[in-house]
Parts: sequence; structure tokens; C-alpha cells
Amino acid sequence: MNQQAAHILQEHNLRQTESRQDILLAFLAQASALSHAEIETRLASNFDRVTVYRTLKTFLDKGIIHKVLDDGTGVKYALCKDHCHDNHHHHEHVHFKCTECGQTNCMEEVTIPAVQLPKGYKAEEKNLLVQGVCAQCNR
Ligand SMILES: [Zn+2]
Ligand SMILES: [Zn+2]
Ligand SMILES: [Zn+2]
Repeated sequence: MNQQAAHILQEHNLRQTESRQDILLAFLAQASALSHAEIETRLASNFDRVTVYRTLKTFLDKGIIHKVLDDGTGVKYALCKDHCHDNHHHHEHVHFKCTECGQTNCMEEVTIPAVQLPKGYKAEEKNLLVQGVCAQCNR
């Protein structure tokens, strides 16, 4: 059993299951955001799609991971480094997708600028994806 994964599950009042541990490990081992397909290829055991889907949903609800909207591939997921908890995420950071290596990363230190919406519109979630060349590739 991985200590860090066990600790995160415990912190969010989740029962320790093999699938949760395994999926969490995939995130802990990878700095950039992961798509559903990428998660599946990184798992030690073979869980069916539904199990992976449900686990991701639980992690999203509990504030362990958050959605990263990506172009083309749709949605990816990344670990919450802010203090998110049950049904409450507070991310205001930008995501950056590198067109060279294809990795999408959380730019925790870069805040999404304030967006002025027309009267009657209420924002619930903000996503900003910046595309370009990352620091690793830009050398
Ligand atoms: Zn979060
Ligand atoms: Zn790159
Ligand atoms: Zn993020």
C-alpha cells in the first residue's frame, strides 16, 4: 500500500480500495494532467471502464482531482493542489498545453483574469487553456 495515496484517501474520508489506490498512484506518479485512456494504461491491475469512471467521479466530487479541459482529446484530470474538499473546488489557475510534447499542466501560480459577464449570467466554473511550447521543450 502506498502511504501517500492512503493518506489522501483517508483525508477525504474515502474507504481504501485497490482501484482508488491504483488510480491515485497514476496521478501521483505523473506531474501533468491525464486523460481517461492515459490513466487506464498506467494502472497496475485491470479495472473495467465503469470502475475507473466511477472512481474518477468520486475523486472529482471529493476534491481530490479537477477537470482540465483540453482541445481535441476532450477532458483530462489533474490532482488538486489547492485545498479542495467535498463538492467544492476553488481553482482559478490557468492550464497550459504544450504543442510539442502534448502534456497539459496546471499553472498553479497563474490566475485566470477576471471575466466580466453580461447581466443575468452567473459563472460557476472557469477554464482557461493556454497552448504553446512548455519550458521543457523550449530549450
Ligand atoms: Zn480542486
Ligand atoms: Zn513540452
Ligand atoms: Zn489544474
